[in-house]
Amino acid sequence: MSTQSFKEDRTDTPESEGTTHFGFKTVAEGDKVKLVHDVFEQVASRYDLMNDLMSGGLHRAWKLALIDWLNPPRGGRPYAHIDVAGGTGDIAFRVLDRAGPNAHVTVCDINSHMLGVGKARAEAQTFSGRVEFACGDAEALPFPDRSFDAYTIAFGIRNVTHIEKALADAYRVLKPGGRFLCLEFSQVAVPGLDAIYDTYSFGAIPQIGKWVTGDGEPYQYLVESIRRFPSQDRFKAMIEAAGFARVQYRNLTGGIAAMHSGWRL
Ligand code: SAM
Repeated sequence: MSTQSFKEDRTDTPESEGTTHFGFKTVAEGDKVKLVHDVFEQVASRYDLMNDLMSGGLHRAWKLALIDWLNPPRGGRPYAHIDVAGGTGDIAFRVLDRAGPNAHVTVCDINSHMLGVGKARAEAQTFSGRVEFACGDAEALPFPDRSFDAYTIAFGIRNVTHIEKALADAYRVLKPGGRFLCLEFSQVAVPGLDAIYDTYSFGAIPQIGKWVTGDGEPYQYLVESIRRFPSQDRFKAMIEAAGFARVQYRNLTGGIAAMHSGWRL
């Protein structure tokens, strides 16, 4: 497949009625949750190792950039944070490292296997009592309205079936004045880098996945799903449409990833 056709796959156009995309495949809307679930069930035990291998450790710098922009309160005031699609806890642990002693983080993910790895990591650290793990869908979070001071979602939102529903639910669970922050793969904004990135991601990532986990398919989905995610500006407009104010984004590594921020008024 040429670089040009990778670009053509980043469509902002909706699928036909009753269907959605799963990577470059078109699937029935109702099937996507299970397909995504199966991907992350399969990769859970090697997820953290694969993140380091695939990104050469870059995902750590991107996650720190998210925490820097979030800038959680370091003093003693209570701070309730939800990290949705929080998987193995990477964002949660970084928030707790940075925030004050009265910060509490809820990690919510649809996949109990990913959460299981996260719980084991939390037990091995010193966060007990300050982090909890909950199984739930980003589109219908199992929490009351206006529960959290901040909501993060890192490399998660492109996996949900209806991005608009996940954004609406983010708005619902945030307190007025609460912050929404998303970290996601995005559209490369540097001429020349896109071709190198496409060659690397389509050529190498499924292969690395195959070596490490014995199956390259979940990683083929990963690279394809990145290409299907809306561009920075289109995603910004979706966040605004969900009701968030002062929506901004920042590119990371030339737009390979981007962070979007918004506020619930
Ligand atoms: N946030 C973690 C990180 O940055 O390392 C994990 C990201 S991982 C690429 C994507 C996560 O999204 C998986 O743990 C998956 O189970 C979760 N996920 C996918 N669809 C979801 C949904 N509808 N609701 C909640 N979590 C979902």
